[in-house]
Amino acid sequence: MEDKQAGTAGRTATAVAAVPGDARNGRSLSPSRAADFLTCPLLYRFRVIDRLPEAPSPAMARGTLVHAVLERLFDRPAASWSPEAAEALIAPEWDRLVAAEPELAGLFADEAERGAWLAQASAMIGRYFTLEDPTRLEPAHRELHVEAMLASGLRLRGYIDRLDVAPTGEIRIVDYKTGTAPRADFEARALFQMRFYALVLWRTQGTVPRLLQLMYLGNGEIVRYAPDEGDLIATERKIEALWRAIERAMEAGDWRPRPGKLCDWCAHQSLCPSFGGTPPPLPSPADLGEPDMPALADEGAAVPAGSELGRDRDYDL
Ligand code: SF4
Repeated sequence: MEDKQAGTAGRTATAVAAVPGDARNGRSLSPSRAADFLTCPLLYRFRVIDRLPEAPSPAMARGTLVHAVLERLFDRPAASWSPEAAEALIAPEWDRLVAAEPELAGLFADEAERGAWLAQASAMIGRYFTLEDPTRLEPAHRELHVEAMLASGLRLRGYIDRLDVAPTGEIRIVDYKTGTAPRADFEARALFQMRFYALVLWRTQGTVPRLLQLMYLGNGEIVRYAPDEGDLIATERKIEALWRAIERAMEAGDWRPRPGKLCDWCAHQSLCPSFGGTPPPLPSPADLGEPDMPALADEGAAVPAGSELGRDRDYDL
């Protein structure tokens, strides 16, 4: 795929993926929530079933800020897509995020801490320009909401950071990460999210994306992968098997903790039996709005409803 991309629908993100069938049956899964269940079924329960609030963290807020700056940058004419223009967007974008969610202002003990945090965000945005020349791109979509219904009735959904479409019709899915590139043995996990999106696009548009591209702004590395139909069929099988496991957990009310490295970042340690806590009683089906299946709001309840921080985004944890 050439670097020079032709947009097929302008630069404004729009949902392009048609949704066959009844997409509102409550059985839905995003890559983030799938990763939650794979990481720890109890974490999935806390986020999806209990919808427990999670205070925003500096890492989460930094991810949102960096994504917002890059998105605002691409709102402007291509000639102005420069490091200086991006740098100039950091302060106003942060002010906008804080105005929308005032609790973000309380993330930092003092001005020095906030300044150091902003400097990290600035370094990540600067690093982006070392990875590609955006003036040679013409993103077809940004922050694109996609969804597709599988034959089983499971709805897959999520947001793609950027979708490039070449004049030849080849599709590149791009995701920005504000962490560092994973070790080789964790790369498959990082690519699962991208295969998930590729599957959604394949099922709705009939085209296997040419390239999946993860851009790690924490250390300036790019991971690229070219999927094929076999990959996406295997991904679909994996997702269906994962969903069956979630349904079994739901029917049995059995959400076991699976302690691991990510416990250090878990907001719910105090309720987790692995850390001496007791989970709250499971909500009743009536509370969940459906007689036999929770309305799976798979965006999670980590932050206030409507918050940009609630976007289905992997925060590199
Ligand atoms: S602390 Fe660890 S084991 Fe407990 S819910 Fe969180 S991720 Fe799961």
